[in-house]
Amino acid sequence: MRVPIIAGNWKMNTTYDEALDLVEELIEGLDGRGEEAGEVVICPPFLWLLIVAEYLEGTTIALGAQNCNATDAGALTGEVSAAMLAQQCRYVIVGHSERRQGFGETDADVAAKAAAALRHGLRPIVCVGEELATRDAGHADVHIARQVTAAFADVDARQLADCVVAYEPIWAIGSGRAADGAEANRIAGVIRRALAARFDAAGAELVRIQYGGSVTDANIAEFMGQPEIDGALVGGASLKAEVFVRLCVAGVGGR
Ligand code: PEP
Repeated sequence: MRVPIIAGNWKMNTTYDEALDLVEELIEGLDGRGEEAGEVVICPPFLWLLIVAEYLEGTTIALGAQNCNATDAGALTGEVSAAMLAQQCRYVIVGHSERRQGFGETDADVAAKAAAALRHGLRPIVCVGEELATRDAGHADVHIARQVTAAFADVDARQLADCVVAYEPIWAIGSGRAADGAEANRIAGVIRRALAARFDAAGAELVRIQYGGSVTDANIAEFMGQPEIDGALVGGASLKAEVFVRLCVAGVGGR
């Protein structure tokens, strides 16, 4: 039985005051609602992690980071390691398409980050997704399977229950044009089969698969109603407390 998981990726948004207002409103709004049925995670910018961690103490909302460096420590100016993040966070997003496209992250980088996260007791949310041109060319399945296989290259089978994969079609991110629920479910099946080929069927069943891309409180039920989808990775809608609270209650309470 996979526990549903809704994660909010704040990206490079919020001032200090806005971050604290948002987290306060989320704590108050969620107030235990739906939490027994699943996990809610928020991923603020690095700079706010410590203070948000303090606010989240004693709540069931988990903290996540948006990225990590795979090296534990050293001369890497401006970077933050998985080892450091593990002291505050339970989750870390790796391989988001904005990092693959904007910062040149390769499949090998994503694999190293996922392995580093697990080595330090952090749970990786591994993002995969295709561009519209790849989908239009009929290559989405192959592309996604390849990204999954690569990202899990250095993962041990015993770590699979701690892993989350977020299927995020790039054309759906921030576009207001979410994928069709049935199609997202089909791709989640492609992801699970790629995991089964890399590990085995039982191991693949342990991994939670999220859908991400223009998820809102209005369409979350369509995704949570799909048998292969265990949650959502949410960008824009995670910055509006009321919307994200409704989304989480409908999402983690909806299975
Ligand atoms: C994202 O960037 O991970 C994302 C899903 O963004 P949005 O929900 O805004 O489409």
